[in-house]
Amino acid sequence: MTPGVRPLIAGNWKMHGSLAEAAALAGAVRDGAAGVAAAELLVCPPFPYLHPVAIQVGAGLAVGGQDCHAAVKGAHTGDVAAAMLKDTGATYVILGHSERRADHGEADAAVRAKAEAALAAGLTPIVCVGESEAQRLAGEAEAVVTGQLGGSLPEGFAAAGGVVAYEPVWAIGTGRTPTEPDIAAIHAAIRANLVQRFGEAGGTLRILYGGSVKPGNAGAILALPHVDGALVGGASLVAADFLAIAAAA
Ligand code: PGA
Repeated sequence: MTPGVRPLIAGNWKMHGSLAEAAALAGAVRDGAAGVAAAELLVCPPFPYLHPVAIQVGAGLAVGGQDCHAAVKGAHTGDVAAAMLKDTGATYVILGHSERRADHGEADAAVRAKAEAALAAGLTPIVCVGESEAQRLAGEAEAVVTGQLGGSLPEGFAAAGGVVAYEPVWAIGTGRTPTEPDIAAIHAAIRANLVQRFGEAGGTLRILYGGSVKPGNAGAILALPHVDGALVGGASLVAADFLAIAAAA
């Protein structure tokens, strides 16, 4: 944790659940949020469920999107503008997740353009970075991550309180995580990079860890320096697990 920074525990629901399941999950997380108030809680449902979930949870829980388009509007079938997310009640948007980078060919420049659109719409971007297993084995993890930061973060990122999520690709959904010293080393490198680029404001931006965070490992990971929260996939689909992770923050 970074002293004085309120941790953010974000649930990335990905493409899971039904409308009824989204309502039940959101309700259970909202009801438990007061018990873990040291952390800010965020849920990121699939687009069709975002608005009903936002209406349901009201001010009790933050809601975010999982992606947005870089354009304000236009002929982009199937895409969603940042202002539309904001309009439905979202306050955050996850950008540059490795599944977007892999499935949709999103490179750093595209992520940066989306982050600029998010900032312009008044959303807080959560920009994801992380190395592949081959890059980790080749000793390139830190260079890959700092390169992604340089390419993906827009100028106004720090002033708007943007969030970085370090998610090693090989740890997502696999049950494997880097060692605690390895997580701490990358988070320290991200912090140094943010301070170098944004000055003092970079010292308190939240840096989340993501990739197989569970109730059993959350306490140790969240206690590491410069780990200011978690981006949680699978475990965010079970309210008790998500709240247990938040309680560890
Ligand atoms: P996981 O996913 O917690 O299921 O590993 C994390 C993520 O992809 O954000």
